[in-house]
Amino acid sequence: MGSIEATVNATLLLSRAGVDRRGERRSDPDLFDRLASSTTTRYLPLRDGQAPIRDGGLVLLDVAPAGDGTPPLYLGATTADGAVPAGTDVVLVPVPGSESAGPADAGVYQDDHAGAVVPGAQWRGLRDAVDDLDAVEAGLFVESLALHHWHRVHRHCPRCGAPTEVVEAGWVRRCTADGSQHFPRTDPAIICTVVDDDDRLLLGRSAQWPANRFSTLAGFVEPGESLEAAVVREIGEEAGLVVDSPRYLGSQPWPFPCSLMLGFTAHATGTRAVPDGIEILDLRWFTRAELVSAVGAGEIRLPGTLSIARRLIEHWYGEPLTDPEGER
Ligand SMILES: [Zn+2]
Repeated sequence: MGSIEATVNATLLLSRAGVDRRGERRSDPDLFDRLASSTTTRYLPLRDGQAPIRDGGLVLLDVAPAGDGTPPLYLGATTADGAVPAGTDVVLVPVPGSESAGPADAGVYQDDHAGAVVPGAQWRGLRDAVDDLDAVEAGLFVESLALHHWHRVHRHCPRCGAPTEVVEAGWVRRCTADGSQHFPRTDPAIICTVVDDDDRLLLGRSAQWPANRFSTLAGFVEPGESLEAAVVREIGEEAGLVVDSPRYLGSQPWPFPCSLMLGFTAHATGTRAVPDGIEILDLRWFTRAELVSAVGAGEIRLPGTLSIARRLIEHWYGEPLTDPEGER
């Protein structure tokens, strides 16, 4: 058996990294000209958070498509042979999406546009397509979503409100008025299995989820807070429990739109769990047999197999769990 960290991360489909980001190339002012004349450069269009998929694989173009006005963004070079050969430089090109068309004709516009940009491909979201993607394709898609979202919501300087411009091949935005530099953001969030003295697992039902979905507790890390302190605070707030010795188990980027989920497990010093009634409506302790029984009876639903929540639960359980009615 490998390390605990490897055990969790190896099962996380969005943590597969198949791209060398080649950060040292970003400051080259001629980078995109060099890439355009290289035979190993490919372009990935992104539209409304969706990428072109054909025969289960990501479609990369030899020539840059017409973009939506956002400058091209350099993703890096692929590191392993798969559907895309190793050493391929990939450039992200956001293309006009449904936001560009009026609501009345959005559907028609989308259909026409998909065919125009990538013949024969379908626009698909990451969650929908990821099962069929290899590590390189998944890495490119995750990186693209996260980076593009940041550009969409950081068009103005947070200091003075002036427009910002894209520099460093897409990895910095610079204020056109005061020259300040702004870097892509990721929001860290902790997510944690809580286990009692009898090795039972605590799961909660969130106000935001379907009625019978139970999952691990989670929350964003606050400014000035360590990950461990965030675990203790969140479990205290959402379940009224004191936990000790949080232990890190692995992480997964969650670009919906910009989170990094940091997985932990922690031991509860008591068992009297009280939901906060706002974020968490119900809390239950499960033995392994009780969990399998409740899922099998359809009494509760597990989080989707794409999520780190599911993998953390399975880490506690000891092997993969089956939920026939479950989602991704
Ligand atoms: Zn500014």
